[in-house]
Amino acid sequence: MTPERMFKDLLGLGLNWEVEESRFEKESGTVFLRIRETPQLWELQRCPKDGGLVFCHDHVEEMTWRHLNVFEHRCEITCRLPRGKCRKCNHTFRVRPPWEGLSTHFTKGFEAFALLLMREMPMSKVAEIVGETDTRLWRMLFRHVDAAYAEADFSQTCCVGVDEMSVHQGHQYISVFADLVAKRVLFATEGKDKETWVKFVEALEKHNGHRHAITQASMDMSKAYQAGVAENCRNAQVVFDKFHVIQHANEAVGQVRRAEMKMGGKEVWGSLHKSQWIWRKNPEEPDRSGKRASVPNQR
Ligand SMILES: [Zn+2]
Repeated sequence: MTPERMFKDLLGLGLNWEVEESRFEKESGTVFLRIRETPQLWELQRCPKDGGLVFCHDHVEEMTWRHLNVFEHRCEITCRLPRGKCRKCNHTFRVRPPWEGLSTHFTKGFEAFALLLMREMPMSKVAEIVGETDTRLWRMLFRHVDAAYAEADFSQTCCVGVDEMSVHQGHQYISVFADLVAKRVLFATEGKDKETWVKFVEALEKHNGHRHAITQASMDMSKAYQAGVAENCRNAQVVFDKFHVIQHANEAVGQVRRAEMKMGGKEVWGSLHKSQWIWRKNPEEPDRSGKRASVPNQR
């Protein structure tokens, strides 16, 4: 078996493509695989417009795709892709090869590997590991996100949660909308005003959801979000999420404690000073030592 034949089998090229040449360039530590189509390709190719029979019109300039490493060596596939021409309508088109990913620089296999790394680490680290620029990798990631988001189906969405997030630790905000039943992010947009709801329902309805199918909307106590729900989702009940309610209750308890400390004199100050964590605790809940929380002596 020749190396070319072996690479053809490893790449799973089937009957329509073959490896014309394989070589290892020591200086750059790169394995190059040059691929071309076989005559069989034209038996199955059809015109993308009308399904008519096609023949080989010409070939485009040589293109390069980064593929998975061969051992620890970089591997690149090159090919002058053929262009087909329809016998019926004369339409010419570039044949899409089976290895090509969503980006023009990488193969499907390489993209899958890079995406796996992106789930686990920052992009700069991924770029360092695979030896590509992060610009190329971001572009590839966005193409996959766009493709996956276009397929997303929100027809079952009824309970939505929204919250704001600050970006770059500054005063710029984005609003993130999530499906609380399916536990997934539905939509994100800049800002934290009521207009974010207009944009959200538009996105929802592009993906088979419906604004009036929303029955519950969970949020902080933002007036803007409440107005957004009232104006866009008439069947939705506003639910203030537990985290924000507890946060407000804790603040109120703290205010009362500080007021009592001021008014109650030395004796009270002694028992209430540094006691804030006791008041925030559920007395039914045992602490780490297994004991129930104790409330300081009453006056
Ligand atoms: Zn045609």
